[in-house]
Amino acid sequence: MKCIACGKTAQETNIVTYIDAKNDTSHNICGACQTKISADKESKIEAIDLQIKQYEELSKSLAKILKSVPKSDLNMDGESPIGISPLGAFKGIQSSLAHLKVRRMELELQESTEEQLVRELREALEKEDYETAEKIRAKIKTNGEEA
Ligand SMILES: [Zn+2]
Repeated sequence: MKCIACGKTAQETNIVTYIDAKNDTSHNICGACQTKISADKESKIEAIDLQIKQYEELSKSLAKILKSVPKSDLNMDGESPIGISPLGAFKGIQSSLAHLKVRRMELELQESTEEQLVRELREALEKEDYETAEKIRAKIKTNGEEA
């Protein structure tokens, strides 16, 4: 069993088989490639930010758990219901975060100045940071130039 994207085998990484019942096909893909593909599919910075937030929270709580796990169990596969060792799960989350952050940067670089300002304005308003929101509003009025 090999990952269709990177060619790694099940011995080297965790591989999941996806079955497409509609087309009667299936493919094997590893966790790392799957997270990269799903990050690359995302086209909205807001959606990525939400995922980054969720993964960061997950990462924090898993970090706490790891410290309470006996050292001998950190790399133990198979015993857990998901078949990934505690350290392996942590690694997976960090890899997802890395892919999401790269994708976020790609999208950010594609944004026009106006799109960027509108997004920053929305973010400021969500945080109830009215001072920053006011500054961004002024910038939008002057077409992105510093007021
Ligand atoms: Zn792969």
